[in-house]
Amino acid sequence: MSSTSTGLPNLDPWLAYTVRIAAVTHEIDDVSTYHLKFTDQAVADTFSFQPGQFNMLYLPGVGEAAISISSDPAKHAMLDHTVRIAGNVTRTLANLEVGATFGLRGPFGSAWPVDACCDRDVIIVTGGIGLAPLRPAIYELLNRASEFGQLTLLYGARESAGLLYTGEFDEWRSRGLDIHTTVDRASGGWTGNVGVVPQLLDRLPLNDPQNTTVLCCGPEVMMWYTARSALGRGIPQERVYVSLERNMNCAIGLCGHCQFGPTFVCKDGPVVRYDCVADFLRVEGF
Ligand SMILES: Cc1cc2nc3c(=O)[nH]c(=O)nc-3n(C[C@H](O)[C@H](O)[C@H](O)COP(=O)(O)OP(=O)(O)OC[C@H]3O[C@@H](n4cnc5c(N)ncnc54)[C@H](O)[C@@H]3O)c2cc1C
Repeated sequence: MSSTSTGLPNLDPWLAYTVRIAAVTHEIDDVSTYHLKFTDQAVADTFSFQPGQFNMLYLPGVGEAAISISSDPAKHAMLDHTVRIAGNVTRTLANLEVGATFGLRGPFGSAWPVDACCDRDVIIVTGGIGLAPLRPAIYELLNRASEFGQLTLLYGARESAGLLYTGEFDEWRSRGLDIHTTVDRASGGWTGNVGVVPQLLDRLPLNDPQNTTVLCCGPEVMMWYTARSALGRGIPQERVYVSLERNMNCAIGLCGHCQFGPTFVCKDGPVVRYDCVADFLRVEGF
């Protein structure tokens, strides 16, 4: 399995370290970003992560959930997680006030291959809350923009109210990110693209497909269509990366909950090369 694995975290992977909610940003319906600070400065100083990695958020008496880190890896003061209310842990989190504390283990998993994108064009393709695990990659790509070719974001949602982080788009554009958005259904005066996000890739002019990398996160069917479009446009399959999602428990490859074909999503993923998982992406039950 070719992966972008970064190995175990730099903190004890079994220990949940205490974090405090410093602020909450309401993003869209049922989705908020929690800005977290470690209560122990020594832990804060030790913790670092790479774009695409996730933490296990531990709500005592409720459980743990895997949540991607959505902040800038270069900024250590605050750790952001953008969370959609799905079940027990995420609903309990949504009911906490600023100042509340809970536990966090991590960071876990593989990272988006930012270094391997040097001198290449990069196309980020994502939908809805799938932009959260890609936001750290956007920050890092923009922080080092001179090292890369053209940077493009293709982003879709069911409707315009489902697009995340739109308040940052002007700044991202000013730093060199070409942003194209689309919605499945036009509403609320939307005058932009209508259609699913892989269609944006179908018609995006490409400078040099052989030297283009695609980073994609979203529902599996969307990633499958995106990869099909990328390959059809001449982008090599080994330059297409996807982020997988499976229920997980230990997050360090021991319990087997997140097995996906021959891989454990928690340690071989979540970011994997498309060609390594293509055979399993559209198989029901995987
Ligand atoms: C690597 C990775 C990164 C992730 N990043 C993010 C992120 O950045 N943001 C984010 O919001 N999510 C993210 N997720 C998804 C998140 O981990 C899940 O939504 C998680 O299940 C939420 O935990 P929960 O306890 O709130 O929900 P759960 O209680 O686990 O419920 C999740 C869903 O399962 C259903 N369900 C629960 N119990 C049962 C049952 N007994 N029978 C049938 N259905 C049931 C619920 O109704 C709900 O639809 C990520 C997942 C992975 C693997």
